[in-house]
Amino acid sequence: ASPVCVDDKSEVEEYFNNEGFNRWNRIYSEDGEVNAVQLDIRTGHGQTVDKILKWVDSDGRESLSDGTWCDAGCGVGSLAIPLAQRGATVVASDIAGAMASEAERRAADLGLSERASFSTSDLESLSGEYDTVSCIDVMIHYPPEKMAGMVGHLGGIAKERLILSFAPDTWYYRALKRFGELFPGPSKTTRAYLHTEEAVLKALSEAGFAPSRTEMTGTNFYFSRLIEAVRQ
Ligand code: SAM
Repeated sequence: ASPVCVDDKSEVEEYFNNEGFNRWNRIYSEDGEVNAVQLDIRTGHGQTVDKILKWVDSDGRESLSDGTWCDAGCGVGSLAIPLAQRGATVVASDIAGAMASEAERRAADLGLSERASFSTSDLESLSGEYDTVSCIDVMIHYPPEKMAGMVGHLGGIAKERLILSFAPDTWYYRALKRFGELFPGPSKTTRAYLHTEEAVLKALSEAGFAPSRTEMTGTNFYFSRLIEAVRQ
C-alpha cells in the first residue's frame, strides 16, 4: 500500500476507535441523543439499509439462508444484524475494533451470535469466498486512486454478488462538500472522498461484475448511491 493509503487507513482506524465510535454509535442507534444533522444522517443511512433489505426480501428468504454473506466495514452491525435476523449467515468485520465489538454486543443481545460473527479487519485483509459481499458507506474513506483496488479485492472474495454504496461525485455534491455541508461529521476529522459513478462501474466491470439494481438515497446531509452488481 502507498503511504497515502496507510495514512488514511490509520487515521480512519484511530477515529472509529475513539471519537468516531462515540459519534457513529449514537447515529447508528434507534434512540440516544443526536443533533439535527446527526438525526438527518441517521434517517438517510437507515433508508440505505432498508433498500438493501427490500432487495433481499424480494429475492425470498431461501436465497438468503442458502448463501454466505460478508459485510466488509460493518460498523456497529446496522446491516449485518437485520440480515442475520432474516436467516443469513453473516461474517462481518470492521477496521475499528470498537465498532466490531459493539456490533458483536448488539448481535449477542438479540441472540444472533450463531448467525453473525464479527472481527476486526481491514477489508484488504479479508479472504475466503462468500456468495454476497457488501460494503456500505465505506468508500468515503478511500481516495479515488485506491477505489478500484478495493472493489477488485472485494470482487475476488464475492462468488456471486457485490453490494456497494458510495457518496457520488457530481457537481452538486462537490459544491456541498466544498461548503462543508456534506458529511459534516467524518469530514471534520477524516478526509471524505466522493466517487464518480462511472469510475465505480468501471472498477466493477474490471472485477467481473455488472450492475443489476441501483438506488439513490439523499437527505439533507446524507447522500449514498447504492449498486448491486452480479458476477458476469
Ligand atoms: N457499513 C456500516 C454501515 O453502513 O452501518 C458502517 C459505515 S461507517 C460510515 C464506515 C465504517 O467503515 C466504519 O466503521 C469504519 O471503521 C469502516 N472502515 C473504514 N475503512 C475501512 C477499511 N479499510 N477496512 C475495513 N473497515 C473500514
